[in-house]
Amino acid sequence: MNNNHPSELAEFLKDPRIAYFSMEIGVHNDIHTYSGGLGVLAGDTIRSAADMKLPMAAVTLISKKGYFRQKLDNEGNQTESPADWEPSKFMTLLHERVHIRLEGRDVGIQAWFYIEKSITGGKIPMLFLDTDVEGNAKEDRELTYYLYGGDDRYRLKQEAVLGIGGVRMLYELGFEIKKYHMNEGHAGLLTVELLNEFKKDIEEVWDEDLIWDVPRVRDFCVFTTHTPVDAGHDRFSYELVLEVLGEILPIKILKKLGGEGKLNMTLLGLNLSEYINGVAKKHRDVSKSMFPGYEISSVTNGVHSYTWTCESMRRLYDKYIPGWANEPELFVRVGRIPDEEIWAAHMEAKGKLLGYVYEATGVKMDYDMLTIGFARRATAYKRAYLLFNDIERLKGFGAGKLQIVYAGKAHPKDNPGKDLIRHIYKCKEALKGVINIVYLEDYDMEIALKMVSGVDLWLNTPQRPREASGTSGMKAAHNGVMNFSVLDGWWIEGHIEGYTGWSIGPASEETATAEDKDAPDVEDLYHKLGDIIIPTFYNDRHTWVRMMQNAIGKNAYYFNSHRMMRRYVTEAYIR
Ligand SMILES: *Cc1c(COP(=O)(O)O)cnc(C)c1O
Repeated sequence: MNNNHPSELAEFLKDPRIAYFSMEIGVHNDIHTYSGGLGVLAGDTIRSAADMKLPMAAVTLISKKGYFRQKLDNEGNQTESPADWEPSKFMTLLHERVHIRLEGRDVGIQAWFYIEKSITGGKIPMLFLDTDVEGNAKEDRELTYYLYGGDDRYRLKQEAVLGIGGVRMLYELGFEIKKYHMNEGHAGLLTVELLNEFKKDIEEVWDEDLIWDVPRVRDFCVFTTHTPVDAGHDRFSYELVLEVLGEILPIKILKKLGGEGKLNMTLLGLNLSEYINGVAKKHRDVSKSMFPGYEISSVTNGVHSYTWTCESMRRLYDKYIPGWANEPELFVRVGRIPDEEIWAAHMEAKGKLLGYVYEATGVKMDYDMLTIGFARRATAYKRAYLLFNDIERLKGFGAGKLQIVYAGKAHPKDNPGKDLIRHIYKCKEALKGVINIVYLEDYDMEIALKMVSGVDLWLNTPQRPREASGTSGMKAAHNGVMNFSVLDGWWIEGHIEGYTGWSIGPASEETATAEDKDAPDVEDLYHKLGDIIIPTFYNDRHTWVRMMQNAIGKNAYYFNSHRMMRRYVTEAYIR
């Protein structure tokens, strides 16, 4: 599997490239350098870039012990263990070495080299940074072990490895970079490295402030923010910054660019990027109100069509819409596919999921029953509990008509998230024999594909406006699975009621942040499920399949990463 020879680097050094920096990139299910949505999006970005032969290079961390493996006991208590994997099976360690200074020590960094190859012949070089190299102190060797592990100090050091170490490694290897794309604030320190790189002499500018050539750095940088919640932005106290990184910039300048009170990675990105975007139109608006005064655009996320289409649907698309994988606009012709064949392809995927459910949990689910899927990070704002708000009412219309498949990990330190999983287990017990529910362990890209293709309906219930975009619903649409979702993130753009799927609760504009506003959403959820969705599924298969076609022809047609990358190229990279 590892055929990435260092000699292959040379072909990537001939022309200037766009460097894509991300703390996590989900390049392959067995390469555990991703935790969830952000990393899978980064992987889809690289896969589309390879298909489209874009001049990119990706930089991330090796995360040798992954995010974590999730085990759940009978009560839904989550335990975590390292998700070790062996880099040498997939990639090659380059001998070049760069250094950064952390807590006054020189820390050596090496890079694992991997090439993402497309069947179109496109190739994207990827660098996975590793501090587990000879000569480093033990604690420094562990810096690239755990994705999102450790405390603030550990995180700051990781971000220095990524941002500062990443830029140095690209130079060391001989890359010529024309843009730096920061996927979320984690890579923000790359701006500081560029500032030092482009520093001018005092004789040249006189004004001390202008020595660090901010306009020039800005020309090079593109920043994508993903977080519509203030607490979600990385911030580090200047005390910690000074202790760990030393005076990487005069503190006065650093505070000017990264915030007075704490070093805010998002502010670094905002202040030092020429192009800034949110990941859906609504998220752009939310970001603008969080950070007034900045020009913020939006490029709505997409998913990699081929990766997120199951085998049986791929066969169907190959037959009726050849070329779809590299030109998802062709989904516009989905109407050519006969209803029976769409249904048959879907039922094949459903059979595979239910087979996996049986294997993993011992629960036999009903092939002909309406099956709802819900899988994502188990964290409070995603409100996985919403469906169970009134168990008696749910029983009333759902008995014998519904079954539900759940999955999702809670971050090891997210106790409310862990409580949520336990809560779902309790509801599962309470509904035993009436509505069958399973919770699949250790959610990853493989389980995700099985679920988004094998259920009949994809449920999403985030608290507005916290879902910046969401991408799993786009994956569902690629498999003809309709969304039933709160109007937030991408669904505001993809939703046509009763046509591409169904909404839950009021239109997004009508509610601001909604701590205690579950009630209208619950009411609408139950009403539509009981009065519209269940009857349509069982009594009007024709309409149901027509809607499956619309999910493909209208949602997958647009919400794919090929369209997303074309937008980044024309709006952000070529400027
Ligand atoms: C797509 C994906 C996600 C993101 O799902 P959302 O519903 O957008 O939060 C998370 N984890 C995995 C493994 C995925 O494949």
